[in-house]
Amino acid sequence: MGAFCTENACLSFPETIRELFKGAVDLIIPYRCAICGSVSDTENRFKDYGKLYYQIYGTGTDLHICGKCLSSLNSLDEDDRWLLCLSNPIEGDPYPGLALYMQFPYKGIVERIVPRIKFGKRIELARFFGCLLGSSLLMDEITADLVVPIPLSKERYEERGFNQAGEIAYPIARMNSIPFAENCLVRTRNTKRQAKIRNSDERSMNVSGAFRVSEEWDVTGLTILLVDDVATSGSTLHEAALALYRAGALKVLCVAFAGNRSVRNAEPF
Ligand SMILES: [Zn+2]
Repeated sequence: MGAFCTENACLSFPETIRELFKGAVDLIIPYRCAICGSVSDTENRFKDYGKLYYQIYGTGTDLHICGKCLSSLNSLDEDDRWLLCLSNPIEGDPYPGLALYMQFPYKGIVERIVPRIKFGKRIELARFFGCLLGSSLLMDEITADLVVPIPLSKERYEERGFNQAGEIAYPIARMNSIPFAENCLVRTRNTKRQAKIRNSDERSMNVSGAFRVSEEWDVTGLTILLVDDVATSGSTLHEAALALYRAGALKVLCVAFAGNRSVRNAEPF
């Protein structure tokens, strides 16, 4: 049997041919960008994402994002990521200073991606944003005892096939070595889609009492990262945070990859 030897290893001929063929395929098959759909070149920095993805999921990813889309993703500056969770204060709110950590403003390319994730069922894009958010939290040295995603109702989960908040939250947990509590929060009832309600008071009413902590989890004394995809009025995160506090959580930090909140929080997490 012949073998092709490199500095570190000897490959048998079939392996050598496969490796060479793989290289040739990389050269001749163009990749389609998952965001804009254009044919993309592969970039070194995006190849690093493949390595990270493998560490988290144990498999490869065929997600590709072109250099143009990558450079349009502009994170908020570090100091601007700490915001007040609610757009409108609620009278008698026991947690009026509830903090939201948000990475991107909900506009431009980010606004176009969200419907693709939710309605185009692009789980890979949700995971990619989870990784971006995870690395941002890591760099800002934010840690906690538990990562909890906002749950979907059973009905909506069956319709969509995945929970986008869960897909974003999982890499955050893995990258920051924090336990992931997928089923910690439970929806007590179905709610209307928040995106279809314009008035923030109505949004608040829509999700009022909509969550509880599952009997399987004890959150007493824990510091929790509560994760959603987008924070618009902040009502969903606020309501879910109240459920965690009622169940004994010590501290809850709401986290969203995008949103339109703009009031800076004087008391960061
Ligand atoms: Zn693109």
